[in-house]
Parts: sequence; structure tokens; C-alpha cells
Amino acid sequence: MTSKKLIPQNYYRLPWSLTDNGISWLEITDACNLACEGCYRPHINKHKTLQEIHEDLMVFKAKRKSDCISIAGGDPLMHPQIVEVVKMIASMGWKPILNTNGVALTAKLLKQLKAAGVAGFTFHIDTTQVRADSPASTEKEHNHLRLKLAKMLAAEGGISCSFNQTVSIDTLNQIPDVVEWAKKFPDIVHTIVFILFRSPKLTGEFDFWANGKKINLGDTYEKTSWGGKRLLTAQDVADKIREVEPLYEPNGYLNGSCDADSFKWLLSTRVCSKKETFGYAGPRFMELVQHIHHLLYGRWISYSSPSYLSTGRSSTLLFSLFDSKMRVALKRMVSSFLKNPLNIFRTSYLQTFTIIQPVDMMSDGRMNMCDSCPDLTVHKGELYWSCRLEEIKEFGCFVNAVPKSSVRDQEYKEDQEKLIKNPTIIEDKVEQNILIL
Ligand code: SF4
Repeated sequence: MTSKKLIPQNYYRLPWSLTDNGISWLEITDACNLACEGCYRPHINKHKTLQEIHEDLMVFKAKRKSDCISIAGGDPLMHPQIVEVVKMIASMGWKPILNTNGVALTAKLLKQLKAAGVAGFTFHIDTTQVRADSPASTEKEHNHLRLKLAKMLAAEGGISCSFNQTVSIDTLNQIPDVVEWAKKFPDIVHTIVFILFRSPKLTGEFDFWANGKKINLGDTYEKTSWGGKRLLTAQDVADKIREVEPLYEPNGYLNGSCDADSFKWLLSTRVCSKKETFGYAGPRFMELVQHIHHLLYGRWISYSSPSYLSTGRSSTLLFSLFDSKMRVALKRMVSSFLKNPLNIFRTSYLQTFTIIQPVDMMSDGRMNMCDSCPDLTVHKGELYWSCRLEEIKEFGCFVNAVPKSSVRDQEYKEDQEKLIKNPTIIEDKVEQNILIL
């Protein structure tokens, strides 16, 4: 299948910012009951106290609006007072979302969490894990566990259900198995998130510096067998999704902080029934949903409620007035009803497929972060990217990567050779510089 290029200008740049965002990220414990390959948090089994958690939340209150608080860790279900934590977050006006591997979730605990006000779960399940509850070696084999957890949440009702999984070049080909599976359950599986394996090259081309000193970061990411041979991009995942979902088209994104063309968060809204895909909502839909929510509640929305996501038909009808992609979905919906009038009795849903590419390193050493990072967390009263908190904890500052002089020398040599072979490059460069001046 030929690749259909993802073009930022075709999608809505989410209006999220440092101080007004859909999400904030709260870490309440280091403890975890799994050891995912590639996890960047050491597990030292320290739980934050309720007082410390309250202090972190007050920092969010003071510095940043957000719709929900992602409760993370470690695994947050390992925290002995997780129910009180959820209650505290809900009472302070946020939607509490639990980011968990689900191992410690029981029916009894789920009931308590529901009563405490939990709004959603994002379950991390993938083949980076060795799990007793799903001894799978492929993503497809994990689908039965995903379904079991989705059914547990559905039985409680009113809780948003998302699954995320890390993807590397070695598991890229398994994406269609998960998409095909999720398509069958839009009523209980609301979001699927593919997170590209973070695999910065820590040795070879760069020197690393912190606090004026050259440091040795080790090469843990490079050594992992799971990470694969090359970094993936959102385009790779989009191509895979399209193999089983040809209509797939994103509608909202966050760009990279250095590379404007990179997609760091790429969202899509599938309009569907349990039997078929009608289409994908366009950028105007995303823009309107975000702004209507902000006008009504003063926050950019994240994690829509299951009841809203089951309004696929009325949403399509309403937003087709403004969004051309919704009009296309509406046409398909109507023709489906005409082909088989019984389809009118099937509920239509909105389901989300999201692709996240965490921090990656540019060839000049700059770190390409998610511009307007949704996963900012609190450490000692300040906000930091959660994906790079270890640098702060270990060195007291972020680490800078500097290309090694041998690499720079080599590049210079190659440039010189090119110039000797083709002197017109110099003329072009002079011309360009004159234009810039
Ligand atoms: S910048 Fe890092 S912490 Fe923030 S969303 Fe991206 S990967 Fe997550």
C-alpha cells in the first residue's frame, strides 16, 4: 500500500499550552508490579504521602489549567491510598484518569474507585511486559486481556476506557491486529494510543553535558532488544492503521518543539457503528469540540465521557454543518441505512486512535519535545516534562547533547568535498544569503 503523507496543515493544531492544557500528569508512586522494557522510571517503591500529593495538585492549581489529571507512577494502583487520591482529585474539580497496567485492578477496587469519582482508565498493555495475567508474545494475544478490562469498566458504567501500547519497528506489523480488534468494540473501547518506543542513541555521535560537566548516561536504551533498529515516526503507524482502516485520517495534533513538521500527538476521531466505519471527523470538528468545551467549562477537553462518545449519529448530524469530513461520514451513514434499514437501530459511536511520539533527538543535539506537553508533572514545586524527570532528579538540570567534534569535522569535510565537486552550491548559498539579508 502506498503511503498517504500526513500533512500538518490538514489538521487542527490543538490549542493546548503550558498553562492551559487538556491533561496534567501526577506521579504518586515509584512502585510498580511489572518491569516494562524501556521504562524510564527506576522502581524504588516510594509512595508519596497524601500531603505531598495535595501539594503537587496545588502547584497545578496555581500554574496550569487542565481538564483531567493523569494519575501515574510506577503503577498508581500500587499506592495504598489510591482511592483517597482519586477522591481528592475529583473534589478539587479535575477528572481523575488512572494510567495503570491493570494488574492490581479487582472488581472491588474498581467499585471503590468509581465511588471516589474516577473518570477513566488508560491501561498500558503490550509485549514489552511479562504478565502473569496474559502470557502473550504478540499484541493480538493480549486482546483477550484488553477485552476483559474493557468489560469490567463497562459493567461499572460511565468510565472512559483507553489502551495504550508501546510500538517499535519490531511490533509495527502487529498494529493492524489491535486496530481490527478495537473496531469491534467502540461501545466499550473508547481510545487506542500507540506510543512510539523512545530510543535515543546515547552513545556514538553525541557528548552529554550537565552542570558544566561531561557526563556518561550509559547506553541502556540502545542495548534493549525490544526497541528495534530504527526510530519510528507517526507516519509509520498511520500507514499501518490504514492497512485495515483505509479511511483513517487524523484531525488534531501537537507538533514538535524543534521540528515543526513532526507529529508528537496525533489524534483522530472515528465515526462508526460496531459493524462499520462511516468516516473520520475533520479538523473543524476537533476545533469546535475544543472551543465549545472551553467556552462552557473554561478548559480544553480530554477524555470525553462514554455517554458523549455514543452520540455518533447526532454528533455527525450536528458537526456536518461545519466539517466537510463529517458530511462525508454522514453520507456513508445514510447510505448504510438505505442498504439495510435495520442499521438504523444500531448505535453510532466516536472512537479515537492516537499516536504519540515522545521526545526524540535532532542531529544537532536538540531535544524535540511535544510542544505544549500534556504530561507535565510536578517536582519540588516546579513543572517538568515527565519523560525527562530523571535528568532533573539525577543532575539537577536537563542534559544537553552536543554532537562530537569528530562527527562535526566529518560533516565539514563532506560539505567541502561537495563544494569542490559542485561550486554552484556556493553561488546558490551567496544568493540565498543576499535574499535573507
Ligand atoms: S514531552 Fe515528554 S512528557 Fe511531555 S507529552 Fe511528550 S513524551 Fe510525554
